Amino acid sequence: MNEILKKVMKTIDGQALDVVRDIVNKITRLRLCDPNGNSYTEIVSIGEYAKQIAQKLYTAQVEYQRQYCFTDNKWGNGHKWQRNLMASLITGMSLDYIWINVVTMKEGVEKHIIDGGQRSRTIHAFFTNCIKLPKKTLVKFRGDILDLSGLNWSEICQRQVEFARHWEITYNLEFKVFEDYTNEQCSEIFNKLNDVNSMSKPEYRNSIWSDLATFVRDLSDYENANGNTLEMFTKNQLEDTTTGSMRGILHGVKFKKRSFDDFISKICYLTANPLKATSNKVLQEWYYTERDGKSTFTKKSKSSMKKNLKWINTLIMSESSSTSRKDLLSDTDLQVLLHIKSVLENSYELKITNGLEFINFWRRVKLTLSDDGKKSDNNRRFEFKDYNDQVIGWSICFSSMSSGRDEEIKEWIGEVSDLFIGEYNIYSEDIENNLPVGFKLLDKSRSIKKSVKEQSLVNQGFKCEYHEWCGNTVTMSSPGDHSETSHTDGGSSSDVDNCDMTCEDCNSEKGSMEKKYFSKVIEMKIKDRDAK
Ligand SMILES: [Zn+2]
Repeated sequence: MNEILKKVMKTIDGQALDVVRDIVNKITRLRLCDPNGNSYTEIVSIGEYAKQIAQKLYTAQVEYQRQYCFTDNKWGNGHKWQRNLMASLITGMSLDYIWINVVTMKEGVEKHIIDGGQRSRTIHAFFTNCIKLPKKTLVKFRGDILDLSGLNWSEICQRQVEFARHWEITYNLEFKVFEDYTNEQCSEIFNKLNDVNSMSKPEYRNSIWSDLATFVRDLSDYENANGNTLEMFTKNQLEDTTTGSMRGILHGVKFKKRSFDDFISKICYLTANPLKATSNKVLQEWYYTERDGKSTFTKKSKSSMKKNLKWINTLIMSESSSTSRKDLLSDTDLQVLLHIKSVLENSYELKITNGLEFINFWRRVKLTLSDDGKKSDNNRRFEFKDYNDQVIGWSICFSSMSSGRDEEIKEWIGEVSDLFIGEYNIYSEDIENNLPVGFKLLDKSRSIKKSVKEQSLVNQGFKCEYHEWCGNTVTMSSPGDHSETSHTDGGSSSDVDNCDMTCEDCNSEKGSMEKKYFSKVIEMKIKDRDAK
């Protein structure tokens, strides 16, 4: 046997198995997270630590950590894991190290909890009577067995004064303390300490420290102290489900393990990458790219992400409280609407005039799509196809917004957007049937300034932008086309460089396609024609 192992075996000989497991666990984590021995150990009693947390000497909520989305209610029971944690501490089981980074600032030092934030908050919650011990909490104390089942801290202090005083002074917590580590170093330690498999996907993404992670985290903060919380995340807009996850009162977005950041990161990703799938794998890669600084995560992209989130928030908040839960907009609905919005905005300005009417319009569109999907293949109005060219119903497309291929999503959304525009044209002109649509589509090609059109006409010699193909001339009544950027990207409609005058044929053929793609299509057509 290895000499070192022999020594270790000798030391732990005769100890109870869970004590041995604790020791091994601690050693492993220490070697893994601090191989060079840069940290030092500090020992503080639990009562003293609770006092220090109450005095806010520690920052428990640091980036890269899991979010603490629990409300600690005075005189409440606390959550199950909190009750169990406190039961194990009060019966004397040892707690894993709490990892601290002491940061020197101009104003003094700050103590950031690298790992142990949830445990620290729980200890604080216990000492402020927000947690009751679970059933069958029995403690051995000076030859007696005390039954602390169902008690909170102040009840323990009243009924078992001696034990309470003894425990808060003698139960010690061990800290491993680093000095002036960077956020990156701390997030690395956090990841090593936390088994990646035990973290939810969004929790794991959040721990990949970068500007993006911080940005998403801030936006998805639950009841944010600085008041930036989206309205949909405020306490009165959320409810607990029976399974312990949370969901909105006015929407069907479920927050598994209360990961609001999962929803937010999808919306942010779609803003930066329109018409893409939002699988966990893709999102994780995005986070890694951001961390490694290879990205284009700019001020401008941040502001369009915020805009989209605000758009969604406003939409959700205009939902009727009488809508049945199964009809409320879900995570997928909101993604699809965002997809459609980005397609429409290539050619139109989308102006929502009444959120609820818009939502109801979308429900009608969905109904048309799902009814059509129930028909036999050759009676269908819409032909959605998967990657293998198999005809599929809308419900499959709808449920594939995360898992589908980008090409598929682009095609499906193209078709749905056409339907969207078609239904809009029918309903918005048919006043008699009294089905309001709640939005306006303002044709951008017709709304370009007269002076810009005039200048473009002159520049193009009164020929269609794709004259080589169509041979048509253009006039002031011809549509103008935004050549470079779509409206969502902040493309200016007044810029002459950004306006192509096109004939009606070319304009309708181009539709919402981007110029760089359409130009290729035209190039091919010309090649084909010339070859004949
Ligand atoms: Zn043309």
